[in-house]
Amino acid sequence: MKVLKGFSYLPKQATPFFVGLMLLELVVGALMTGSPVVTLSDGLTSLSAGMISRLPLLVMRGCELSAYVYVWDHFLLWELPWDSAWTWWLTFLGVDFCYYWVHRFAHEVAILWAAHQVHHSSEYYNLTTALRQSLTQQFTSWIFYLPMALAVPPSIFAVHIQLNLLYQFWIHTELIRDLGPLEWVFNTPKHHRVHHGRNLYCIDKNYGGILIIWDRLFGTFAAESDKVIYGLVFPIRKFEIIYVQLHYYVYLWKKSRAYKTISNKVSTFIKGPSWKPGKPRLGDHVDNPKVTGNEVPHNPNWLLSFQVYVGVHFLLVLWTYHELFESKMVLSQLAILGMTSYVLLTLTSLGFIIEQRPSSAFLETVRCVIMVTLLRYNYLRSPMPLLSVPTEVS
Ligand SMILES: [Zn+2]
Ligand SMILES: [Zn+2]
Repeated sequence: MKVLKGFSYLPKQATPFFVGLMLLELVVGALMTGSPVVTLSDGLTSLSAGMISRLPLLVMRGCELSAYVYVWDHFLLWELPWDSAWTWWLTFLGVDFCYYWVHRFAHEVAILWAAHQVHHSSEYYNLTTALRQSLTQQFTSWIFYLPMALAVPPSIFAVHIQLNLLYQFWIHTELIRDLGPLEWVFNTPKHHRVHHGRNLYCIDKNYGGILIIWDRLFGTFAAESDKVIYGLVFPIRKFEIIYVQLHYYVYLWKKSRAYKTISNKVSTFIKGPSWKPGKPRLGDHVDNPKVTGNEVPHNPNWLLSFQVYVGVHFLLVLWTYHELFESKMVLSQLAILGMTSYVLLTLTSLGFIIEQRPSSAFLETVRCVIMVTLLRYNYLRSPMPLLSVPTEVS
């Protein structure tokens, strides 16, 4: 089942394509709007979330694939021929249909939203937002695709799930305004902007992956009208990556503890994120803070020298991350765990610097000592020989 490697994750061959489009958006955006469409603090937080979301691949090679293949092996009802155009189109529709429901449940069930809120936690909307992915969502989303294993060969399914995710990258932009008749059928930047909005008319709308027809069919479609204000209804205004990933689980736990009855405690996790006792299943969005259209995204001022420092160290840890994935087959589990911890520590420390926390100097000093030690003992390889720590005196 080699073809299934990377199931539910974007293939690494997509990286140059992503980087090229993000740079293009940066340049075209600056020319069109006269100001940067990406900020360093928000953009790096999004890219960090994307990196973290792929870390489980290092230690657990696709337990979720095993489930798809297990269902295929044991419960196959009707084997669709892998080389038929019909199979290709049916799988395309099937994956997109399942994605609609994965996504809708991720918004309508609070414990699933705790994972998915990461993707919505940016107050900006650009291509880096597409990569702001959840660490934990992958542990539940695969369940929704299992019915396809009754008929669709795993190899065909694996191709389509990746195509579906790849498609959704380019729609995270404000630079493409309207695509005419394509807007009737496809999920486009215009439709997905609404999905990321916190305006009342945007909440719980436009769940589609490639096609928008599912939203039109199931009554969750909304057309873009008022200026969209992006992000969570209660913006988190944080750049600390572990907090961004996990804070909502803590919030839900505290919310449930405040209720006396078991029924209310359980409802906290399985009903909508805005649910409260006495309210409908999805809560009452009229209770949410009003959007005026004048909201300004959180973008703290910080020294240029710190921005350069964070930018350089982010590129260095990106290199380490790339090397870690390249060499995971020859590393011991302990070494992988150690390097994964180092990547997490680095991204956390850079987030602390962006937030200008008082403890950032101490944390960054500890991190730099660990970095030099890892370089000294060859656990880290420098992208440039000049940055290497000498290990011998000649
Ligand atoms: Zn969503
Ligand atoms: Zn999105």
